[in-house]
Amino acid sequence: MARIFCIANQKGGVGKTTTTVNLAAGLAALGQRVLVIDLDPQGNATMGSGIDKRSLDPSIYDVLIGTADVRSARRHSDKAGYDVLGANRELAGAEIELVSLEHRDRRLKMALHDVTADYDLILIDCPPSLSLLTLNGLNCAHGVIVPMQCEYFALEGLSDLVNTIKQVYANLNRDLQLIGLLRVMFDPRITLQQQVSEQLKDHFGEKVFNTVIPRNVRLAEAPSYGLPGVVFDPNSKGAQAFMALAHEVVARIGDIRPG
Ligand code: ADP
Ligand code: MG
Repeated sequence: MARIFCIANQKGGVGKTTTTVNLAAGLAALGQRVLVIDLDPQGNATMGSGIDKRSLDPSIYDVLIGTADVRSARRHSDKAGYDVLGANRELAGAEIELVSLEHRDRRLKMALHDVTADYDLILIDCPPSLSLLTLNGLNCAHGVIVPMQCEYFALEGLSDLVNTIKQVYANLNRDLQLIGLLRVMFDPRITLQQQVSEQLKDHFGEKVFNTVIPRNVRLAEAPSYGLPGVVFDPNSKGAQAFMALAHEVVARIGDIRPG
């Protein structure tokens, strides 16, 4: 059965989507069967995996509303090496429509039952909010991976997210755990980033991934080619860091109960 991980941080532009598609591509390169679920109406993980978000019919929206199942909505990305349950702007409406539906906060969990045997790992790219969509992600996950930039306010935002994870754990999902904090867009020349990185390690100990993702322009360029950076330029520093992360995640998986 698949291990399901949310890539979450309620801040935008912190590297969630970049982490999702590159970790997925790294895991796929290691032979893991991977599904990426795009829970963000911006559809960046979809496009960044080489799937045209305008061509989705059905999409994750239909899966959440209940008019399609995951089997019919998922698409395989040959280039990226994994399956994608894609999103587009339609998903923005789901937030409102879900409110009046039964089991509104665990519709994704119910929909995934069909396919969990098809994958080793399912990675969910969450939107930049602690919304009903994110809650659907957290509700079906075994773990959360939190990408973060080592900036001054990073730790403050983190406590909101950690509290949300604790609440979901206490009230809704006893499988949920914090898998790891991932330092992204890291520039070791910046003293403040080094300081925040040290604070993170002091505070969260081994919950901080050993792997650090550097700021690397190839990672930022890759989406415009519809490719994860790991596939676009495997020799780049960014791609190599995400391959190291894929190895680290596989090593950590031994500790995580499958669903
Ligand atoms: P989020 O999904 O949290 O909004 P993104 O993954 O879309 O964040 O990243 C925000 C922006 O930063 C994007 O333009 C992306 O290409 C860029 N970016 C992300 N990670 C890196 C990195 N390690 N090096 C350089 N640019 C990055
Ligand atoms: Mg994103």
